[in-house]
Amino acid sequence: MNSEHHFFENNSADAQRVGSIEVICGSMFSGKTEELIRRLRRAQFARQTVEIFKPSLDTRYAEESIVSHDQNEIPCSPVENSGNILLMSADIDVVGIDEAQFFDDGLPAVCNQLANQGVRVIVAGLDMDYRGKPFGPMPALCSIADDVTKVHAICVECGRLAMYSHRLVKNEKLVLLGEKEEYQPLCRHCYNLKK
Ligand code: ZN
Repeated sequence: MNSEHHFFENNSADAQRVGSIEVICGSMFSGKTEELIRRLRRAQFARQTVEIFKPSLDTRYAEESIVSHDQNEIPCSPVENSGNILLMSADIDVVGIDEAQFFDDGLPAVCNQLANQGVRVIVAGLDMDYRGKPFGPMPALCSIADDVTKVHAICVECGRLAMYSHRLVKNEKLVLLGEKEEYQPLCRHCYNLKK
């Protein structure tokens, strides 16, 4: 088989879709959601069908949309658990998942199943909680992903790249929503000084 023929086959309309899992992880204020939206918009420009999911407990902003800090907005479906994503993703080309750290431990298997069915899955989430511990299903998602992008905020103390979300209020609850008032991004050095 010559390479030209191979090229033609891969680009024919009925070629089998090849799925994948992309993870965008990082601290708060690192631009995870903005990067997710950027990739999803490009998929929309390519006339691919896009569906976005977030855990229904993330109700900081409008229920039916993910809203990033620069006010870009994409319609979104809040779901109770990862199994619902599987049920609602039939015939979708690109599935976006935001705030993935709040999902149940079934999420990695759901992403794998979608990717194996030919879906491009793009997952954004906090990789560490405020204690600096791996957050929910994020470590497992990073392990099984085709590609992982770690994005960084800027340390408010020294200006280095920040990867920790330091909690300013005394509250042991792991799931604490709301942003600017309760957290600040810190680098390793400054985070260890505050612990
Ligand atoms: Zn610092």
